[in-house]
Amino acid sequence: MQAHNGMYIDGDWRPAAGGGTIEVVNPADEEVIGAVPAGSAEDVDAAVRAARAALPAWAATPPAERAARIGALRDALAARREAIAATVTAELGAPISFSQAVHAGLPVTVAGTYAALAAEHPFEERLGNSLVLHEPVGVVGAITPWNYPLHQIVAKAAPALAAGCTMVLKPAEDTPLVAQLFAEAVHEAGLPPGVFNLVTGLGPVAGQALAGHEGVDMVSFTGSTAVGRRIGALAGGAVKRVALELGGKSANVILPGADLARAVKAGVANVMANSGQTCSAWTRMLVHTDRYDEAVELAAAATARYVPGDPADPATRLGPVVSARQRERVTGYIRTGIEEGATLVAGGPDAPEGRERGWYVRPTVFADVTPEMTIAREEIFGPVLSILRYQDTEDALRIADDSVYGLAGAVWAGDEAEAVAFARRLRTGQVDINGGRFNPLAPFGGYKQSGVGRELGPHGLTEYLQTKSLQF
Ligand code: NAP
Ligand code: MG
Repeated sequence: MQAHNGMYIDGDWRPAAGGGTIEVVNPADEEVIGAVPAGSAEDVDAAVRAARAALPAWAATPPAERAARIGALRDALAARREAIAATVTAELGAPISFSQAVHAGLPVTVAGTYAALAAEHPFEERLGNSLVLHEPVGVVGAITPWNYPLHQIVAKAAPALAAGCTMVLKPAEDTPLVAQLFAEAVHEAGLPPGVFNLVTGLGPVAGQALAGHEGVDMVSFTGSTAVGRRIGALAGGAVKRVALELGGKSANVILPGADLARAVKAGVANVMANSGQTCSAWTRMLVHTDRYDEAVELAAAATARYVPGDPADPATRLGPVVSARQRERVTGYIRTGIEEGATLVAGGPDAPEGRERGWYVRPTVFADVTPEMTIAREEIFGPVLSILRYQDTEDALRIADDSVYGLAGAVWAGDEAEAVAFARRLRTGQVDINGGRFNPLAPFGGYKQSGVGRELGPHGLTEYLQTKSLQF
């Protein structure tokens, strides 16, 4: 992998003030594939100053011109598709076919939606005797995780830039190389210096400095609820705007009349994708007691098709998890599930056969999971599915909502109206009805402890705007 030994600040690549570096490791073979600068508070300060200096001109740039730059950014990302996919596969361990379709493909789509929205959005509105101006919030500090490393960058950068904000990004330490590719695309797209800045570094160092910087008007964070809580407190104390995209433990509710085979197959695929490292994954499958045993059998059979393998091989459907630490965390949860009395029907805590090197986890399915069990309550972030039993629809609703999280979910029923009626009662931010398709314009974000704010589409754009009212 080609790594810059600099950070992209004020339109240029410069080394870290402190000179430290972070090694990037391939989770499939544990080999070091590159190193990036470890930014400090000093680097964050330089980046924030560049973003502040660039703000007035970018905020005053006509929306059509901002739209044109974001369109060029979209094209620059599209031109790098192969490099992006290969990079995400190398630093995250996602199967190359998934990297091509999702990790490289989705950011192009999302950037395209914001090129259009920047041009179409009504940035002014008449309300009685007022003219309401929708102005950029200012300088955005964006902190992103490793699980969808480029998507999560674009889901913040594209709307922030469309709104007229400038920004500083601190990407996850595990996946900084694709963030460098993004900065290259920004440069090629002709965004003015300082509008987008990249500081690689450690969360508690560079991330914390960014979230607490007085020159940052808004902090947009995606990651764990534990860190999100701290960032929210820090931002609250400084009266900054904050957006938090946090964890989930989403329910896949299969109502009695549903096409069981289809629902279970889609449910297993949803959990195994990206090695289960998806905040919106449907990690709790809820099945009526009459069809429970059949569903468990179907799930075990579907899981057998996810054989852990080399992510660089186009035939691989399940790669490793991102890091040794993540593997410890996931296998720890699998052990806890066994100890608490759930029935292991596929997988388990030991390394998959022939995959002792690399951070592989066996695709795992638990049956007889009850709502109090740890594996039904906590976000595991690995290829682990819990199947729970319900007695009737009210019971299914109670179990589905019995979570501190509320990010996503699915409902399957014999007819759509029944599924929609159930979905209306769920306390969660997104629900897919009978296998509904992903919509890049639909607001994405959490109820309860899954977060604050929404990303994507027009709702994601308004997160980066504030209003000023002129009265006549
Ligand atoms: P994390 O620690 O929350 O990391 C997310 C981002 O925040 C990274 O850029 C991280 O930097 C940064 N960060 C960490 N500590 C910080 C601090 N004190 N101040 C400011 N920024 C800070 O998540 P993780 O360690 O990568 O993963 C831990 C668990 O979080 C996972 O097992 C999973 O359950 C959950 N998670 C959820 C999502 C989601 O989309 N909801 C995404 C990722 C992880 P570093 O990379 O340097 O740590
Ligand atoms: Mg971390």
